[in-house]
Amino acid sequence: MMNPTLETCVTNCPPASVPDYLPADALRALQLRRLQAVVTRAWSQVLPFRARMDECGLTPEGIRSLEDIAKLPFTQKSDLRDNYPFGLFASPMKEIVRLHASSGTTGKPIVVAYTKQDIDVWTSVLGRALAGCGLHRGDIIQVAYGYGLFTGGLGAHYGAEGLGATVVPASGGHADRQIMLMKDFGVTAMCCTPTYFLHLIDVAAEMGVDMKELPIRAGVFGAEPWTDAMRAHIEKMSGIEAFDIYGLSEIIGPGVGCECRRHQGLHIFEDHFYPEVVDPETGATLPEGELGELVLTTLSKQAMPMIRYRTHDITRLLPGRCACGRTLRRIDRIGRRSDDMLIIRGVNVFPSQVETALLTVDGALPHFQIILTRSQGLDQMEVQVEVTPNMFNDKIGALQELHGKLQHALDRVLGIRVKVTLVEAHTIERSEGKAKRVIDRRTA
Ligand SMILES: [Zn+2]
Repeated sequence: MMNPTLETCVTNCPPASVPDYLPADALRALQLRRLQAVVTRAWSQVLPFRARMDECGLTPEGIRSLEDIAKLPFTQKSDLRDNYPFGLFASPMKEIVRLHASSGTTGKPIVVAYTKQDIDVWTSVLGRALAGCGLHRGDIIQVAYGYGLFTGGLGAHYGAEGLGATVVPASGGHADRQIMLMKDFGVTAMCCTPTYFLHLIDVAAEMGVDMKELPIRAGVFGAEPWTDAMRAHIEKMSGIEAFDIYGLSEIIGPGVGCECRRHQGLHIFEDHFYPEVVDPETGATLPEGELGELVLTTLSKQAMPMIRYRTHDITRLLPGRCACGRTLRRIDRIGRRSDDMLIIRGVNVFPSQVETALLTVDGALPHFQIILTRSQGLDQMEVQVEVTPNMFNDKIGALQELHGKLQHALDRVLGIRVKVTLVEAHTIERSEGKAKRVIDRRTA
């Protein structure tokens, strides 16, 4: 008997969404076939991978079940840097139709490659992600991620086109023009980073445009960690429904996973990406529900297969089925990355904790920056927070009261005393992509 949800989907959903509802055993069988094929491909085509397999005494025939994935060696970001630019490609250049690169903070970028089939997979997973957010043909989707070597812009663009929606390829920057396009074109959904959308909310208000009066109803936000407190703020200020989308260039770009309208974690497009959560220290696989580092394996990637890629993103696999009926497993929202962690006087601090603390206090805006300095050998952390414009016009007492509330909220969440500085709205530099939350002025 056909699963009723599957049946409903087959009649009503775009054909590309059907894999979202595969019965679990069919999905596992498909994953195993694809895992065996991708390991064989990497082993036969990618010399550094084969060398790593040899070190472990493994051949592709050693992968007989999905659990056997744990025998395979991890891939790290440093492997991409060490093999710059093309050393991990599994396809000859004549099969490769696209290259992307992500800027590294130090030295060379990392390079990723796509065959025509890889681009088709990327388009389909992004289309499924957008469909899960309730978007479809007839929607007008503005893409305000940067277009270029960064995967955000072109990734979202192809996905939205694949869905049959109308794409407005605005790219990043020119906030006033973004607002004009949203208004004049009747844009119904926006794809960008959450902090850039916050900036657009401010700019719209300055231009006298009430975002709640515009046709926009959804925002699909990614490329940086953000919190539920930030979601609540964005939804309250703009009247849209905000979705979290996840991805990384090393795996394919945006579209590895996305929230559905239940907002209970992000579904991973498991027919193409195999998720594991491991202990970040030991690398041991953790059971469902336990918090650890997300490790991803591309199951269908041709040009550049990634086997057990360490993402540094901290999350857990959520137990149970989502009420939306999709059989795809979900991960929790990613609030932190293991390499985002700041160690301040022996205490672990994540920027997302600061965001959560600030948003509990009325009058503070979610624009903040963390400034780290060192004084007499001790780390000092200062949080600069923007406050609503009317605050500085009010009596000094109101500012002092707000300062006290913020200090209290941060002390409670972080467990250490940090310096809080209130600054006027628009003092902190706005990013056109990922927000720069931390300025480290400590010298070794
Ligand atoms: Zn769901």
